Amino acid sequence: MRVVLLGAPGAGKGTQCKYIAARYDLLHLSSGDILRRGRAEDTELGKQAQSYMDSGALVPDELIVEMMIDEIGKAPKGGFVLDGFPRTVNQAAELDKSLAEHGQTIDAVVNLKAGDEVVIKRITGRRSCPKCGAVYHIESLKPKVEGICDHDRAGLVQRPDDTVDVVRNRLRNYCEQTAPLVDYYRQKNNLHQLDADADAEIVREALFEKLDALVR
Ligand code: ADP
Repeated sequence: MRVVLLGAPGAGKGTQCKYIAARYDLLHLSSGDILRRGRAEDTELGKQAQSYMDSGALVPDELIVEMMIDEIGKAPKGGFVLDGFPRTVNQAAELDKSLAEHGQTIDAVVNLKAGDEVVIKRITGRRSCPKCGAVYHIESLKPKVEGICDHDRAGLVQRPDDTVDVVRNRLRNYCEQTAPLVDYYRQKNNLHQLDADADAEIVREALFEKLDALVR
């Protein structure tokens, strides 16, 4: 199965993609995580992406498309779930073109819909472990000891683009550049809409219900 998750920053794409990947045995490909790994490893791509990411702007299509199509090419036969890509109509068209060359299409696109205030609260309270990647929230998903990862006791950090000002910029860019993708996929008849204001476990159950119907 090949799945795309859409949604504003903070809508819960990363969290839900992890659930989906585990349940349907899919490769989880997060463009943001791949870029951040590139930065940590000081790759050429990581360096080129840094200033865009820190200001909340999108990284240029040509950099992202090549990077993601490369990763998709390494996915096992069972399929993948895409998180953060495509993010512009041009990226979606390039993805479709590349899949079509292998006789493939996207089977399902799920749009996680969450309100602006909800996503701002989720993102600005988000803290993560630089060592294992575990994600916490200062109010709703606290670690056992404040500021310390439960798994490896590393000090938790805030992503540099998770501050209020940058989040507002990311949301603006989402509305202008990524929201049009909803129409793009609606026209292809593979779009599913899901209310994502609720807690992660509730969203997960609704999501599984939709995807279970597709794999049956
Ligand atoms: P979020 O979805 O919460 O904004 P991500 O981790 O997916 O966070 O992305 C972080 C940043 O990485 C984005 O603000 C952008 O700069 C860059 N990025 C990730 N995916 C893409 C993409 N498909 N196209 C352009 N830029 C991207």
